[in-house]
Amino acid sequence: QAKAAGPSQQAVYNPDEEQSTRNRQKQRSAIHAGLAKGEFQLFYQPQVNLQSQEVIGVEALIRWQHPQEGLLSPAAFLPLVEGTDLEYDLGEWVIEAALKQQTLWQQQSIDLPTSVNISPRHLLHPGFLPRLQSLLDAYPHIESRQLSLEILESATFDDMQAALAVLSACHTLGIDVALDDFGTGYSSLAYFRRLPVQLIKVDRDFVRDMLSSQDDRAIVESIIFLARKFSRPVLAEGVETMAHASALLALGCHLAQGYGIARPMPAVEIPTWLAQWQAQRCGH
Ligand code: C2E
Ligand code: MG
Ligand code: MG
Ligand code: MG
Repeated sequence: QAKAAGPSQQAVYNPDEEQSTRNRQKQRSAIHAGLAKGEFQLFYQPQVNLQSQEVIGVEALIRWQHPQEGLLSPAAFLPLVEGTDLEYDLGEWVIEAALKQQTLWQQQSIDLPTSVNISPRHLLHPGFLPRLQSLLDAYPHIESRQLSLEILESATFDDMQAALAVLSACHTLGIDVALDDFGTGYSSLAYFRRLPVQLIKVDRDFVRDMLSSQDDRAIVESIIFLARKFSRPVLAEGVETMAHASALLALGCHLAQGYGIARPMPAVEIPTWLAQWQAQRCGH
């Protein structure tokens, strides 16, 4: 509704805006209900060492099995929860779902480090660390090194001191942190040096275009160089072809993830994928 506005403010009644606000609220209620009904699930995408061919872990990626619309990607629903309590609830659900899945894999003698994506607000939520600690206590058979967090480069500079404190606490708990989509943010080098992160993930857009664009190749090379100077391992995401994999290996980037290796898949498909990967690896 229109409020009394000063001369510099715009407060025009906009029926479209009201309509879309109502829509968003409806969609949020649907997400809330879907969470309660168990409609969310995690897909897993393998991460490998291209040089040794070892599987180093999996990244958990959220999906919504919507009763009418089918399988929805995070881009379809995560923006709706941003800044609401649901963002925290969904984020917490993801961590626990990943720990539950690791428990199931362990029962099949599969020991698979799992990384989960943590949104910036979730990371800085006062409940985040205590809850993480209590989840680790609740799943004592899963060592903290088996869980890692992926945070966006941009998550760390809105409130740098707070982010540093949380990341240090994670480090103390034995949980590694990866900087996701690296290269898309604006961190300065001086600042990067202080971040307690154990892995750099090169954003998939640069990797995708590194074979056709000199600029993107230069960015990928610089990130690999930077990571090496600061003694941090670097992983390339969005590795779609063997040509990408070879180019990355030649640049000294050994860790990779992408459709060219494996697409994200439901947890039940992981044991079969692992067995196939293992067989192929031994065959060479
Ligand atoms: P991200 O963390 O950078 O994850 C990588 C995204 O790239 C995933 O998209 C994955 O499916 C996709 N991908 C992997 N390999 C390739 C490839 O070779 N080519 C291309 N074109 N894409 C590839 P997805 O699953 O749609 O997730 C998108 C983003 O949504 C994620 O980007 C992450 O920022 C966010 N997200 C996903 N799951 C969660 C979650 O559980 N919590 C939070 N907070 N964010 C999540
Ligand atoms: Mg990620
Ligand atoms: Mg990423
Ligand atoms: Mg991304």
